Amino acid sequence: MSKRVVILGAGESGTGAALLAKAKGYEVFVSDKGIIKEQYRSDLIRNKIEFEEGRHSEERILHADLIIKSPGIPDKADIIMKCKAAGIEIIDEIEFGFRYIQGKVIAITGTNGKTTTTLLTYHLMKSAGFNVALAGNVGESLARKVANENHDWYVLEISSFQLDGTTSFKPAIGILLNITPDHLDRYGYEMQNYVNSKFRLVKNMDVNDYFIYYCDDPVIGTALPKRKISANNVRVSLKTNQLAQAHTLGTSMHFTFAESFIIRQEDTTLKGPHNLINTMAAVTAVYLAGAKVSAIREGLKTFKNAPHRLEKIATINGVEFVNDSKATNVDSVVYALGSYKQPLIWIAGGIDKGNDYALIQDQVKQKVKALICLGKENEKLTGYFKGIVPQIRETQDVRELVRIAMELAKPGDVVLLSPACASFDLFKNYEDRGDQFRKAVLELRMNAENQPA
Ligand code: ADP
Repeated sequence: MSKRVVILGAGESGTGAALLAKAKGYEVFVSDKGIIKEQYRSDLIRNKIEFEEGRHSEERILHADLIIKSPGIPDKADIIMKCKAAGIEIIDEIEFGFRYIQGKVIAITGTNGKTTTTLLTYHLMKSAGFNVALAGNVGESLARKVANENHDWYVLEISSFQLDGTTSFKPAIGILLNITPDHLDRYGYEMQNYVNSKFRLVKNMDVNDYFIYYCDDPVIGTALPKRKISANNVRVSLKTNQLAQAHTLGTSMHFTFAESFIIRQEDTTLKGPHNLINTMAAVTAVYLAGAKVSAIREGLKTFKNAPHRLEKIATINGVEFVNDSKATNVDSVVYALGSYKQPLIWIAGGIDKGNDYALIQDQVKQKVKALICLGKENEKLTGYFKGIVPQIRETQDVRELVRIAMELAKPGDVVLLSPACASFDLFKNYEDRGDQFRKAVLELRMNAENQPA
């Protein structure tokens, strides 16, 4: 009799897991408490996979041999507690996909910078000629990829929620970019639990594997000595650190492996200090995977990052507009502000996830000439920056927002949407916020071009 697998949650990861489970001969049942998106429902129907939505049928779920849980479902959820009590093995889709791959994995985690580093690593691997797939939190789920294709390498973006559901997962190369407080609601408001989750990345890695990490990060620095890590440690630093195999001098990145080489940030398509870290981590991974330095240099010239991450939209009358809508916490704003020398019109606001603005106070004081709050409740922002920023304005309308920004800016200034907050008060998600901002900026540019000289 075939084994019964139940998949909880039918998003990209759940549907991918269902396809793989079906391909591997399991008896598959998918259960989603919410409404399943059309694309996933049709995937399931096309592949003759049984599913339910709007409920969890307990008797059927508790009859499973294996549960694959969507990373969005917390451990505290009623159904998960019951599955645990019944002694059923519960894993994440990443773990399930990993059990069936033949190739090697480069896994990337951290609080910020995962997507950029993952996309860059994938791009560099691909342009260096590797047979490589991109999966995980960006693009298709690993399980879906594994169900359809075979690759020598898989570049995966992994969140802490996904790591929580791994047991045998063992990347050949793991990257840990940083750890700053985020998602603490899922970790019993204990930072240590979140740190432990991130370090699951290296749990099974051995002496043949490489653990690349940003060694200036204080949380990583404190956590490391307390752990036994068998993988080769490879350090990335923004300082001139003798122990770091990749470090910077100004904006030049210095790499010291079997061969030594230097890459200047000007010869890449990314800017800002955070992207020095991301680039050093990605270059290190790809080099250790066996790419030639010349191929890496070529790849760095042609990389295009995903939108909403310091995305330059347009320059209107000498004023540059930048969309960093993905910056939903203060830590990312630290780096966004650090990426510009010009005076800034800073747009921030939305749903505050417990922000500590002291982290950016000095930079804001030095560079920001006006703050425009884009949120329903702005008291915390306005209260904090009153007296620090010369001008503070508020709006809930994106078109009005760009008009105000244009009115406040002088040629040479940068208008930076880097909100430090989630977007759900006024927008569907951060993409919607960034898309609306981009549209309004492009409209403004069109109007400016149509103005008589
Ligand atoms: P993630 O996938 O981890 O959310 P992204 O690459 O999408 O990361 O970047 C999210 C935000 O974090 C962006 O606003 C970006 O400017 C900022 N960021 C990118 N890399 C780093 C880093 N290494 N450290 C801190 N912030 C970063």
